[in-house]
Amino acid sequence: MSSGRAKLLGLLIIAAVVVSGAGLYCAIYVRTEPKTIIITRTGTVEKTVRNIVLVGWDGTQRNHLKEMISRGEAPNLVALASEGGLVDIDVTTGATDTKAGWTQILTGYSPEKTGVFSNSRYQPIPEGYTVFERLETFFGPENIVTVAIIGKKGHVDNDPPAKIPFDQWAKTEARQGRKVPTPKAGLKVNDGGQIVQENGVFYVAFPGKPYFNASKHMDLFLNGLGENEKVGTTAIQNLEKYKDKRFFFFIHFAQPDHVGHAYGENSRQYTDGIKSDDEWTGKIVAKLKELGLYDKTLVYITADHGFDEGKTTHSNAPYVFVATDDPKINRNGDRADITPTILKRFGLDLSKIEPPLDGTPLDEPAYVRVTRLGSSAAIFSCWVVSVSMHDLKKPACAYTNSHSSNSP
Ligand SMILES: [Zn+2]
Repeated sequence: MSSGRAKLLGLLIIAAVVVSGAGLYCAIYVRTEPKTIIITRTGTVEKTVRNIVLVGWDGTQRNHLKEMISRGEAPNLVALASEGGLVDIDVTTGATDTKAGWTQILTGYSPEKTGVFSNSRYQPIPEGYTVFERLETFFGPENIVTVAIIGKKGHVDNDPPAKIPFDQWAKTEARQGRKVPTPKAGLKVNDGGQIVQENGVFYVAFPGKPYFNASKHMDLFLNGLGENEKVGTTAIQNLEKYKDKRFFFFIHFAQPDHVGHAYGENSRQYTDGIKSDDEWTGKIVAKLKELGLYDKTLVYITADHGFDEGKTTHSNAPYVFVATDDPKINRNGDRADITPTILKRFGLDLSKIEPPLDGTPLDEPAYVRVTRLGSSAAIFSCWVVSVSMHDLKKPACAYTNSHSSNSP
């Protein structure tokens, strides 16, 4: 090799090292964005994870929850988070509603991959995509119990596709005080239904519900339980039943959402709904302790969507949270980050999952997702800016964490 060539090669190597160094620095810079852990962590013991319990507080608005925390009104959540953390979760893809919310939380995918965009635009989640199915496949059906115990009937359901004669459907609609349209093929109606015509007869066709495929592979899928008390006691019975097995439980409380729609986000009833979720979550944790399972069980609490400030709706309510005793959780995140967090804790190799998950585990920097999108150009421009500033300690990063906490 000529000395000129060797010099050039040397320069290239130095450049490569500098670029990768700057990239790393950007990464560190992004990582250190402030997180809003507002709970002081007490003595934390890392658990050997055998089980995970995911508790849903449907429709719990982050700010409302934080106000309650400051008044001491969510003691069980605070006790849990004092062992791990409370982080902000934002919704960035999909509607801020129940179908889109739990589907994203339980699959780790954006709506384009699941086909579940909102309460009215949905289909069965493609077979194999949910946390439940991933775990059943990974451990083998005999080696894990997957359970969903759900307060709601609509939206977190597993009904097969259905075709109802139009007249029959119209009667039910009218009874519920809804306006019945004149039948016309192709016309969309409530709950994702569509009017179809066959041999001159009108029907209303509904797609299969989101968990139509998933529930076939689960040990228990129970929905429509209604009140928190029913959900909580059923969950506790099943924890007893499966205490000797490895398990993943999804326990869904619907109270805040129901009363939020009835009385509004700033109502006493809404606060009481969240208090009830907190109480029942406390009872579930107490049961885990009583059964001697708490030391090998991680608990995560989250919500599918928040609530419109002061209103009875959640049309634009992207601000939720994760509270957990998992001490590894160290950043704010996205609604799609919860599935990868759970799967990673169970030991799955996320890089092998197809299609690739849209989220990143909450113990890994969110920039991983940015780089996965092919942002070497962003890293390079970061480096250029850094060098031109002659201050590698404060690079003006070309991209930022999309999970900044800027909720109203
Ligand atoms: Zn709702």
